[in-house]
Amino acid sequence: MAPVILAVAELADGSLTRLSTEVATLARQLAEQSGGSALGLVVDAAPDAGAAELAAFVPRVVAVASPAVSREVWAPHAAAEVRRLAAEGVTHVIAGATADGRDLAGTLVGLLDWGLLANASGVTWSGSSPEVEATVLGAKAITRSVLTGDTGIVTVRPNAVEAVAAASAGSVEPRSPEGAATPAASVLERVAEAGAEASLEEARIVVVGGRGVGSPEGFAIVEDLAGALGGVVGATRASVDAGWIAYARQIGQTGKVVKPALYLGLGVSGAMQHRVGMQSAEAIVAVNRDPDAPIAEVADLFVVGDLFEVGPALLAELRARRGG
Ligand SMILES: Cc1cc2nc3c(=O)[nH]c(=O)nc-3n(C[C@H](O)[C@H](O)[C@H](O)COP(=O)(O)OP(=O)(O)OC[C@H]3O[C@@H](n4cnc5c(N)ncnc54)[C@H](O)[C@@H]3O)c2cc1C
Repeated sequence: MAPVILAVAELADGSLTRLSTEVATLARQLAEQSGGSALGLVVDAAPDAGAAELAAFVPRVVAVASPAVSREVWAPHAAAEVRRLAAEGVTHVIAGATADGRDLAGTLVGLLDWGLLANASGVTWSGSSPEVEATVLGAKAITRSVLTGDTGIVTVRPNAVEAVAAASAGSVEPRSPEGAATPAASVLERVAEAGAEASLEEARIVVVGGRGVGSPEGFAIVEDLAGALGGVVGATRASVDAGWIAYARQIGQTGKVVKPALYLGLGVSGAMQHRVGMQSAEAIVAVNRDPDAPIAEVADLFVVGDLFEVGPALLAELRARRGG
């Protein structure tokens, strides 16, 4: 039986999230590797724009207009549509390892009695199953797991693959909703996560403060530069462990994996455990007063200097350019 791999997309403000473009790319790649096929699913009150975006990645998209998801939690509604598609032949479900993606995956395990491999940091096809790489035990070990049987669910962390559109756009098939698969809770209020923490993994520009910033106050220059560049603040484990900044900002083996267009690191040494979370940034700029700091090995531009001199000079230049 050739696998039929479903990418379940999530929308934010009507558009596909970056993680969903990666999930869809992965579904297509797994279909190519396994000799199967891929399709996508969007379940939203207004799915059309997101479904059109998703069709750039997979040959077929099912778009379900479900007004209920604007007032009820998403997963029970998405699960009903996945169950319908499973009855039509879908064998594997790929979803983002987000709050909603995890809800969906858990619901599907109960509904379909399928196996689940969670928090993949890499996925390839192996035999009759996706082979899922995940870090465990505080990133001290990496596991590789396959599903037993011909069906299953995988949740994928951001930046596990690079999103690449298909050679030609797919078709979109509108459907009316099934309704919730399980009792759905009502959403009373939606509150945006404070600051930019929510978007660190999707940010185009990330400005990182390492132990070199020296104190919580030292992060001011990091925050100012992030603000001037339209970027998001990140951190090393040393800064997080010192209590200068929240763990949600940590980049690296035991933090988040980022893949921005620009990574700007201030006072970051470039330890391997940090590098695994940032080394695939398109451009890496590092400021460090130690000319032998290991981050120089991965930096496109390595500035040897005191971050409290270089940082404010860069900020003044950015502000002057914006004003000028
Ligand atoms: C199992 C495990 C998991 C880990 N996971 C992570 C992880 O997810 N993320 C992570 O980041 N780390 C992680 N680490 C820790 C990692 O090994 C390093 O200790 C950490 O990344 C170092 O952070 P840092 O670069 O901020 O600090 P340091 O290594 O202390 O480097 C500080 C740098 O700042 C420079 N500096 C100091 N003052 C200035 C100044 N005024 N101007 C310019 N430069 C200055 C110094 O020259 C130095 O290079 C992990 C470690 C282990 C064992």
